[in-house]
Amino acid sequence: MQAIQILTTGSADVLTLRDLPTPTPGPGEALIRIEASGVNFIDTYFREGRYPAQLPYTLGQEASGIVLSVAPDVTTVKPGDRVAWCLVPGTYAQLTVAPADRLVAIPDHVSFQQAAAAILQGMTAHYLAHSTYPIQSGDEVLIHAGAGGTGLLLIQMAKARGARVFTTVSTKEKAALARAAGADEIILYTQEDFVAKVKTLTQGKGLPVVYDSVGKSTFEQSLQCLQPRGLLVLFGGASGAVPPFDLIRLSTMGSLFITRPTLKNYVATRADLEARAKDVFDGVANGTLKLRLEHTYPLTDAARAHRDLESRNTTGKLLLIP
Ligand code: NDP
Repeated sequence: MQAIQILTTGSADVLTLRDLPTPTPGPGEALIRIEASGVNFIDTYFREGRYPAQLPYTLGQEASGIVLSVAPDVTTVKPGDRVAWCLVPGTYAQLTVAPADRLVAIPDHVSFQQAAAAILQGMTAHYLAHSTYPIQSGDEVLIHAGAGGTGLLLIQMAKARGARVFTTVSTKEKAALARAAGADEIILYTQEDFVAKVKTLTQGKGLPVVYDSVGKSTFEQSLQCLQPRGLLVLFGGASGAVPPFDLIRLSTMGSLFITRPTLKNYVATRADLEARAKDVFDGVANGTLKLRLEHTYPLTDAARAHRDLESRNTTGKLLLIP
């Protein structure tokens, strides 16, 4: 079976198509034929070596597919089941094994591509809006990179909870997409000072929460957008990692809070995983959560997908089809 591996870390050039043996499910695992694999920014962190991985390493940690076989001790899924999962490495491949207790059933009205597009970024948007900072009706929130895969979903969920949504994007085309997703105030942060704009639009008050996945290039200004006792949710570093930070500054800037959350801790139990996946898939099935699936690549084009994502040329979700 074919898979995309890295044998060394580096640029998108290190992605290598390899023929690997069919994996065998170990205890508690299922063998799955992958129908679609999500491309996420975190995959570029592993590829670069920003996050450590044992090499050779099969990239990708989000997919949908059909169960082909299960280990004798598995009773929760069976061959033929349509399933989706995330946070299990090895999805840039035709076949993979995954722990059965991390698989969720795909509802009838959700396609394989929709499931692979929604499960990681959708559950991320879900925990950010519902758990890390449970948005209340009337809250004013800032979401960076609003036309990205996670950004478009987080805008929709923040609007559904009654927020006034501020978002940043790099181009006018992306601004139109963020607007269509429901954003109220759109700031072209490549041209405008987003701190000044936020301050003007909130009459100097600032915001209770900023969702920042851009990191290095926005972190300092994101703090300046907060009102006293506001929360910075730093959940990624698309522009690079944030340098070390002196905590005393949280005090001098208004008793601020910072959290650096990750999805793993918000879907750690089976109950959390099922509840979040259900909310996301229900939204996709009933049309209240819209996915943008404009970027679909054959598995063999994984390097092009990475280059497109990193050069800020994409909007919404990127999928690899084996
Ligand atoms: P996106 O589709 O959002 O792509 C990243 C976007 O970041 C780009 O489209 C771009 O939007 C913006 N960006 C700003 N500066 C840069 C830069 N220098 N280089 C590249 N992009 C830049 O990706 P994802 O939805 O997959 O992920 C978004 C972020 O969320 C990532 O940081 C990721 O690590 C994080 N994440 C975190 C999770 C968690 O649980 N902590 C889970 C899932 C994702 P624009 O052109 O408008 O600036």
